Amino acid sequence: MWAQDWSNVKDLFLPCKNKPSLDIAPALREQNYTAERMFRVSEEFFTSMGLSPMPEKFWNLSIIEKPKDRTIVCHASAWDFCDSKDFRIKQCTDMTMEDFVTVHHEMGHVEYYIQYKDLHIAFRDGANPGFHEAVGDVISLSVVTPKHMVKIGLLSDSAGKKDSEVDLNYLMSQALSKVAFLPFGYLIDVWRWNVFRGKISSSHYNCEWWKLRSEVQGVQPPNIRSEEDFDPGAKYHIAANVPYMSYFVSYIIQFQFHRALCTAAGEYDPKNPLAKPLHDCDIYRNKKAGDLLKEMLRLGSSKPWPDVMAVITEGNRRMDVSALREYFQPLENWLRKDNKKHGAAVGWKLSKNRSYSVSCMSLLFFFCLQFTDVLDWSVELC
Ligand SMILES: [Zn+2]
Repeated sequence: MWAQDWSNVKDLFLPCKNKPSLDIAPALREQNYTAERMFRVSEEFFTSMGLSPMPEKFWNLSIIEKPKDRTIVCHASAWDFCDSKDFRIKQCTDMTMEDFVTVHHEMGHVEYYIQYKDLHIAFRDGANPGFHEAVGDVISLSVVTPKHMVKIGLLSDSAGKKDSEVDLNYLMSQALSKVAFLPFGYLIDVWRWNVFRGKISSSHYNCEWWKLRSEVQGVQPPNIRSEEDFDPGAKYHIAANVPYMSYFVSYIIQFQFHRALCTAAGEYDPKNPLAKPLHDCDIYRNKKAGDLLKEMLRLGSSKPWPDVMAVITEGNRRMDVSALREYFQPLENWLRKDNKKHGAAVGWKLSKNRSYSVSCMSLLFFFCLQFTDVLDWSVELC
């Protein structure tokens, strides 16, 4: 609905259509996975790196399945009860790849709570909100690699065999989650902050929303919208007043953290990325990476975030997209070639008397040109 994660339409975009894309849902069903088993597998990743297991209270008091006897808000969340003992997750877990990743995401929050639990209450928080969102996602970047899926028995040896074409399909599916998210993650709070500033008046809530959706994200509504509709209010984080920029920040810094941990683990060689590419790194069972991550998490918010970032990034104190670009380099190379081959144009334009044309953010340029031919830009803004 939000076009925030495009991986569910990955079959349309696979670079090598004759090669498989990896989906673990059938294996989860075949092996009779339960919500608890997903959570135990996730916990085992953290402990394999020397991080903390989930405490007993977590297992007794969390809600990890949709209750049958009442209605609850199913949006997954993780909670710190601030007594240094009680931490819980609430999630209506389905047996899908998406939820398997969400389990790791939420457990990343709890691992952070546990690591900083002995700090003064004022410092029991992420170095910045983006750090909190990034912890579990960093773990997931290893978990979803084909080679890790083989290790935990969710993919057969043959399906996980190294193959550059399967790799491209894997990277495309990752990009449809991670890169396609960026414009969406950015525009939510741009819209909200402009509302708070008074730059967007209540008589233009929906119109300005769709302007941003068109300009920044390059999507259009399926039918004509008006101020009778309030589309942003249907997004959980808008209605529940949850800040969103943290996710945008997370989707960038998680690649910096991933690169730093993978380098420490000897799983990535920046000087020889062809032999050990960043997208193929798995930090499972690596104590060096675990110690480094722990060192960062234990600081909570007791230091300014650039100081905390510098702990694991060998002194780098800035948020930047270089690691994200390195991760997707093989896909970017392929897209450059493929777009040239097909003469695809970069960017998108709004037609129908709209005088502005829009270029893709340079970070995303390789991505949007895939869609230019697909979409018809005859959007009617209110
Ligand atoms: Zn989160």
